Amino acid sequence: MYAEVIINSDAKALNRIFDYIVPNDMQNIIKIGARVFVPFGRGTKLADGFVIDLKDKSEFANKEIAKIEIENSLTEENIVLAKLMARKYFCNISDCIKLMLPPGTQSKDISNRVKEKTGNFVFLNKPKDEIEILIENRKIKSDKHIKVLRFLEKNDGIYISDLEQITEVNRSVFKTIEKNGYIKLVEKQIERNPFINKNIERDIPKKLTEEQQKCFEGINFCIQNEEFSKNLIYGITGSGKTEIYLQLIQKVLEKGKEAIVLVPEISLTPQMVDRFLARFGDIVAVLHSKLSAGERFDEWQKISNGEKKIIIGARSAIFGPVKKIGIIIIDEEHDMSYKADSTPRYNAKDLAKYLAEKNNCPLVLGSATPDMITMHQAKQNEIILYTLKNRANNARIPKVEIVDMRNELAIGNRSMISFKLQEEINKNLENKKQTILFLNRRGYSTFIMCRECGYVAKCKNCNISLTYHMNVNKLKCHYCGYEADVINECPECRSKKIKYFGTGTQKLENEVHKLFPNANTIRMDLDTVTKKNSHEEILNKFKKENIDILLGTQMIVKGHHFPKVTLVGVITADASLNLEDYRAVERTFQTLVQVSGRAGREENGNVIIQTYNPDHYAIIDSQKQDYDLFYNQEISLRKMLNYPPFCDIILINFSGKKVDEVKKISNLVYKKLISVQNGNINVYKPVPSPVDKIQNNYRWRIIIKCKVTSKILDIINYAIKDDIIKKSKDTKVIVDINPNTMN
Ligand code: ADP
Ligand code: ZN
Ligand code: ZN
Repeated sequence: MYAEVIINSDAKALNRIFDYIVPNDMQNIIKIGARVFVPFGRGTKLADGFVIDLKDKSEFANKEIAKIEIENSLTEENIVLAKLMARKYFCNISDCIKLMLPPGTQSKDISNRVKEKTGNFVFLNKPKDEIEILIENRKIKSDKHIKVLRFLEKNDGIYISDLEQITEVNRSVFKTIEKNGYIKLVEKQIERNPFINKNIERDIPKKLTEEQQKCFEGINFCIQNEEFSKNLIYGITGSGKTEIYLQLIQKVLEKGKEAIVLVPEISLTPQMVDRFLARFGDIVAVLHSKLSAGERFDEWQKISNGEKKIIIGARSAIFGPVKKIGIIIIDEEHDMSYKADSTPRYNAKDLAKYLAEKNNCPLVLGSATPDMITMHQAKQNEIILYTLKNRANNARIPKVEIVDMRNELAIGNRSMISFKLQEEINKNLENKKQTILFLNRRGYSTFIMCRECGYVAKCKNCNISLTYHMNVNKLKCHYCGYEADVINECPECRSKKIKYFGTGTQKLENEVHKLFPNANTIRMDLDTVTKKNSHEEILNKFKKENIDILLGTQMIVKGHHFPKVTLVGVITADASLNLEDYRAVERTFQTLVQVSGRAGREENGNVIIQTYNPDHYAIIDSQKQDYDLFYNQEISLRKMLNYPPFCDIILINFSGKKVDEVKKISNLVYKKLISVQNGNINVYKPVPSPVDKIQNNYRWRIIIKCKVTSKILDIINYAIKDDIIKKSKDTKVIVDINPNTMN
């Protein structure tokens, strides 16, 4: 017997199948998905890999499998999916396999892996950003220290013995790092249960409204009959979508099956998780990035052995080791976090559909502002649509007003806050009500420019403007982390007229303090949210301590209920409208509707949207909170311009240190593409990317517009699998289908 083995490695050259002889004593235990150790290359070290197929003949096999490990193996279904993903997302099978392994078990030495035990726990003692700055400024110099700290940045909260083995750093070194104050060692003997201190009151199913009932019955039919179906629950915030999910899951459990629930990372709040815990107790597993490696491992094991039957998590929870999937639910299905931005660049929605079909169970997508693609499919009857028009608990829908910021300038208001919004904030302060000020900062930053000659301070490694950070008084590059001192004089023309453009949250906070000196405020953005749980801490503080004003970016939009908030001010509605991306308008609309939903859950709420484009349909429609109107306008534009859902956008990115080689390879791929293309594919000539240099890597790209089909995948595979590309050590080629950003 012979086994086809994939080596667990990122190397391009190893992205192939290797044949091995299966020794006699392994023949009845080996299976597809088994983790094996094999002799590889010249050394005596064994490489680890996975069996992806078994066969009776092989022309190449000349070595035997040395060891087989049954625990932490994958299933045959895992391997089928990994193969499919590798083809569809143009990556190595091993990249996909990694997502399916229990967290912390990627290491090839069994003794190096995270496992169940107790002992000293290691935590970072400072926020990641601060550590990075210390490393950058050479305050932390030792390679060993850097290695440990960088590992902890990604895997905070790990047993010291695991850390020792994984990083191959001696325990005495940890003591030094601890003395320097960068890490903390804590004796921990309790079970790694993230809910250990929770005492949640159980709740019971609510009697569904007529709208809810119809939707519930439709989907429950598929659960009972073990049938695949793709469903969209389109219902405004508070219309009772989550209650439907809970009752459907109840039915799934009664059938002896299990459930996967995906939510955007940012809405994995305790409030959301608590509702599942309240209904189902400790059979709920939660997977998110703030858990320690050990906690994630434990949750994974409990799903795997059937102790837990409901898994809630962000994108990668779709790979959770659920045995009998009975339903897959994707909440806030329009959220861009379901598409991965790094290899493998998969879309969890596509994988969910694949898994639901394989498991003969329903897939349920839910949103108040469905993705244009999803709604289009619903209109084409490819998805069953359920509409919830009313709020389940009769909460009101807020009143939304638009303020034209061009007039503000005309009447002498140079502040970021319009007179109208100032007036409303004052009213709220008097009445002791809370206010949220939202800054739409996507695609927006504070950059500095010379008003004399137009010079803009840019990163020396990336062709992108540096962002000003007020708290450390530095200029930073958001792509590579490069830092520079603030300048007072233009390096080009020596002028002192340096201006700071853009409106960051820090600047907003300063203005608020000036205008409302007696208000207490709290700020939430990437700068303030770094430590474990601090996202939660800020929001809890806002809620419990009755802080007057919460200021923040995208993070405040989702998943929270603030009963006392009666006013939401959107400072710059259109900051994201003008991005070079066909989804910019859609995202602006979605964000505005969602942020408006934060106001007046229980009392009358007001929303004020400040804009320089009051006539834009995304702004007008969000004022009316009218998704259908928006959909109709946007879809006709998409059709006219041939954008998704009418086609897919495939981005082929080329990047490398040698600009000539990058250019040459992109031209080569282009020639191969057009030599096989037919009428249904639009291949655009290679051009430099909008951000044409990142970390000293030059970037070129090809855009293809067409419907992704099996044939197209073959054509692209043919075009990028060229010997010249394979031989080039420097130039990387990455294919991304319907990417989140076009830069
Ligand atoms: P969504 O997920 O659409 O935002 P939720 O399911 O969170 O909506 O419902 C909003 C609020 O209404 C919640 O407090 C929920 O408990 C309540 N609710 C939902 N369905 C019902 C119902 N049928 N009867 C009474 N209250 C309900
Ligand atoms: Zn100048
Ligand atoms: Zn940079």
